[in-house]
Amino acid sequence: MDFENTLEAAQKLDASDALRKYRDEFHFPKVNGEQVIYFTGNSLGLQPKNTQKYVDEVMTDWAQLAVEGHFHAEKPWWDYHERLAEPLAKVVGAKTEEVSVMNTLTVNLHFLMVSFYRPTSKRNKIICEEKAFPSDQYMFQSQVKFHGLNPEDTIVEIKKRDGEHFWRTEDIIAKINEVGDELALVLIGGVNYYNGQVFDMQPITKAGKKVGANVGWDLAHAVGNIALELHDWGVDFAAWCSYKYMNSGPGNASGIYVNEQYLNRNDFPRFEGWWGTKKNTRFLMKPEFEPMENADAWQVSNPPVLSIAPYLASLEMFEAVGMEALIKKRNRITAYLEFILHEIDREVDSAFEIITPKDRGCQLSVFLHGQGRPLFEYLMKNGVIADWREPNVIRLAPAPFYCSFEDMYRFGQILKHGILEY
Ligand SMILES: *Cc1c(COP(=O)(O)O)cnc(C)c1O
Repeated sequence: MDFENTLEAAQKLDASDALRKYRDEFHFPKVNGEQVIYFTGNSLGLQPKNTQKYVDEVMTDWAQLAVEGHFHAEKPWWDYHERLAEPLAKVVGAKTEEVSVMNTLTVNLHFLMVSFYRPTSKRNKIICEEKAFPSDQYMFQSQVKFHGLNPEDTIVEIKKRDGEHFWRTEDIIAKINEVGDELALVLIGGVNYYNGQVFDMQPITKAGKKVGANVGWDLAHAVGNIALELHDWGVDFAAWCSYKYMNSGPGNASGIYVNEQYLNRNDFPRFEGWWGTKKNTRFLMKPEFEPMENADAWQVSNPPVLSIAPYLASLEMFEAVGMEALIKKRNRITAYLEFILHEIDREVDSAFEIITPKDRGCQLSVFLHGQGRPLFEYLMKNGVIADWREPNVIRLAPAPFYCSFEDMYRFGQILKHGILEY
């Protein structure tokens, strides 16, 4: 690589960055009067400057039209969510009809498990990764108990090998084959939140389908970060949040994907509500449920427009840039951060290691050998917003939309200072 650990080299990389101008399209917090170096786009993405306009529009319509806004706002509220399906389908590699926006992530995963986790006395096991995101663990346990089963007999966790920081695809596939005709569901986080690993979604999905299980993915850390081809991979279902790499604001609406083979089926098990019924007969208030032809059949309530508006604003930017360009920048800036980390580690005589494997998005997880929390706090005080995970890990995610190569260089200098001074 042609990288150098100098300000000049970093600025040169910025000058040739095709996405350079997008940095100015976001609001950055300030520390000590200066724009922060923001590494937590994997937790809460920065606010795009155009978001305010989308939210104001809804607020104004509400003030001026009140209930009439449902049908007569410029973007009517009753089908506001439909505007997101097409641009979002491109981000996740799905057909437009396979995508919908509603609720929040864990809620959607629960709803999708109602449809896709249908345990029988023989086939009732769930495969997930060990130490899955806590919300997912609580979800698995409560779903299993809801069906009258025992989590300990039912939830099969894939382990990492001793001394290794990542999961091996062959171990996952071997476990799928071992559980075989007792396997009801495979549901894994597509990108692991802790080590940043990207799972081999295509072969894992194929292996799960081959033994007769349903396969879903929690894409919280994947969407807007890595290339996804959910439809072509034959994934049954997936869900993700909008507030991490998709920059749509705290706790805002989540997206779902349901494979087309499950659409347009009256008999398919689902928890239903009035917004899942066919639009043209919805307000006839009939007792029979007629599902929407697309993934909107999983809609339950009328859409939370104020929480969807920022998602629409964000998707406009994803539409303008495209995942391909975003991934190109991601690869380069993450490689540059990796280079800087190696340089600093050499200069300070080895203080940490990167535990993220080569299959990764933009997140690098750094395991600190000596200093822990005090070093992290030093970083935070000096304008670096990163995040801390027990026991001794700092997660760094240089989101390609708004992080600069100069940020990476400056971070390296602050890190070095912190290690040498503390
Ligand atoms: C962030 C994240 C969640 C968050 O769930 P919410 O329901 O949006 O609070 C769930 N699962 C994973 C894997 C996550 O990374």
